[in-house]
Amino acid sequence: MRLFRFMPVMLIFCSLATVGFAQSTPAKPGPGFSLDNIDKTVDPCVDFYEYACGNWMKKAEIPADRAIWASFSELDERNLDIERGILEKAAAGGSGRDAIDQKIGDLYSSCMDEKAVNAKGIAPLKPELDRIAAVKDKGALIDEIAHVHLVGPSPLFNFYSASDLHNADTVIAYIDQGGLSLPDRDYYIKDDTRMVDMRKHYVDYVTEMFTLAGQSAGQAADSAKAVLRIETALAQASMDRTMRRDPKNRDHKMSRDEAVTLGSNFYFNRYFAGIGAPNFTQLNVANPEFFKQVNGVIESESLESLKTYVTWQVLRAAGPWLSQPFVDANFKMRQALTGQKQIEARWKRCVDLTDGSLGEALGQRYVDLTFGADGKKRMLKMVDALEKSLAEDIHDLSWMTHDTKKQAKTKLDAIRNKIGYPDVYRDYSSVAVKPDDLLGNVQRTTEFESRRQIAKIDKPLDRKEWGMTPPTVNAYYNGSRNEIVFPAGILQPPFFDKTMDDGVNFGGIGLVIGHELTHGFDDQGRKFDPAGNLRDWWTEQDGKEFEKRVSCVADEYSNFVAVDDLKLNGRLTLGENTADNGGARIALMALEHMIADDKSGKEGQKIDGYTPEQRFFLGFGRVWCEKRRPEYSRMQVTTNPHSPGKYRVNGVVQNMPEFQKAWGCKAGQPMVAENACHVW
Ligand SMILES: [Zn+2]
Repeated sequence: MRLFRFMPVMLIFCSLATVGFAQSTPAKPGPGFSLDNIDKTVDPCVDFYEYACGNWMKKAEIPADRAIWASFSELDERNLDIERGILEKAAAGGSGRDAIDQKIGDLYSSCMDEKAVNAKGIAPLKPELDRIAAVKDKGALIDEIAHVHLVGPSPLFNFYSASDLHNADTVIAYIDQGGLSLPDRDYYIKDDTRMVDMRKHYVDYVTEMFTLAGQSAGQAADSAKAVLRIETALAQASMDRTMRRDPKNRDHKMSRDEAVTLGSNFYFNRYFAGIGAPNFTQLNVANPEFFKQVNGVIESESLESLKTYVTWQVLRAAGPWLSQPFVDANFKMRQALTGQKQIEARWKRCVDLTDGSLGEALGQRYVDLTFGADGKKRMLKMVDALEKSLAEDIHDLSWMTHDTKKQAKTKLDAIRNKIGYPDVYRDYSSVAVKPDDLLGNVQRTTEFESRRQIAKIDKPLDRKEWGMTPPTVNAYYNGSRNEIVFPAGILQPPFFDKTMDDGVNFGGIGLVIGHELTHGFDDQGRKFDPAGNLRDWWTEQDGKEFEKRVSCVADEYSNFVAVDDLKLNGRLTLGENTADNGGARIALMALEHMIADDKSGKEGQKIDGYTPEQRFFLGFGRVWCEKRRPEYSRMQVTTNPHSPGKYRVNGVVQNMPEFQKAWGCKAGQPMVAENACHVW
């Protein structure tokens, strides 16, 4: 439940938005709140998003190296510049550097030395490819897959650790569906022209990569066929994203012996030994049907085809860190998927790599430079105000019985807040980082993270851990920890602006806080209790009332057109839309309390001709001003649980009588829904 991207390792998260691919930039307007963004020729009651963002959109251009340009991309750019400064300094530091600067500086250097990377060609990957080539039977292939899972991508399936759904204080092993290269199972299965076209691009991409790796044209074409066939088989047994939203569908805890019977070929015990897992006795097999399919694939495919598939996974993951032809082939596929015109400058890719590999080391430097104690204090005050509003909202709900309200309040009181950066930073001292070994650095940092995940199995949950790095422009709620997390990266304009009035800030970061809090009570979050366990604490009647109300939201958003004739998936985006609606309502409530409590009357005054409520909605609109490329819009409809900016704004305000009052809208106008939805 992050404010935006999907992280496979942390299933319970949900964020503010999913940007999808790391990208990046010509002339840009300032990211802050400004009345200049408003298009006053538009009636706010007809199209509020157009009113709040119209002039911004007239001026904004999607940079060639991005698929989307939004307020959080503007912040991303600023963060990238700051991080670049940190990394260049660390890279130049020489022998007098401390351990952190050595790691982040040398990783960045190894990435930035494009000449050396190009000169090496595919050589750095050769040892991995040779290992796979040397595999003599399917049993040995399982050992090899375990090795690949440690240092690189995850062919066939995913293995990770996470909280036990029924005992959140303990971390257990999970095996789960995976092994795909395209963004979703639909890309392999659906027969509409868009998906058929993407499969053509994909086959070309795989063929080109195998050709670059030394195969003849004929061999490479055969390899691509095998890859597509195996991944399609995996896609067919993969649960779709909407199904996966329900944690009950991913709740299949079983004994290790039972799991082993899912694959008569045995492969689990051999795999667990190969990857160095502790000797656990229970695990969650998130999608048992998928593993029957994996077993079938191992049985029916030849050893050679399986080796081709594993080789492909390794080749694809390494592509961006090999020489130029591999980088280009990789980008061409990304371009087909997202419409991005040009690859990001190398330094941006290298900053992203460092953030992804050594994020809490780079983040530590970032925090020292950018995040002060005053920011944390003001945020805590806002979180407190939002929690009080949600408590009041729950207390006054007409559709919920007293018993469930009591439980909801207990859950709300138990939510933990994390703001800015972790109390304890990850210790990367055991990772060897060398200034002249880019792929080796990628493999060693990947292995460090894999082993860190594996080491948590059967241990108590570490509640201090963070799931996002400090510079990240995003936020999340984690259901199994019952916590909300706001990295330092998002605590800046237009989300949070120290120089702005409360109206604008409650519409920005206030709404984000409300959004994350509401995730604890959306279609997914409501299934977890205060301790983070999957447990139904609702009366049957309240559960039914809840379902009725969220169905209204699902129907509303299912009618919104994302691009061309492609509509949003109201069930996939349900949790996020519920959170946006609830977040807006409680953030506005909190603002009203501020105004009521302010004896000086200053809070209630108009600024630049707008009431505090109007500024609240303008601040909200500003946060979601965006432009996306059509290809990207199409991809997001399939993969992203968040709605596009336009509907994150208009979908919410049309449900709010408070909005209609603030702007003087009348029944029958587009921003006044006939059947307004109201959950929280
Ligand atoms: Zn969210």
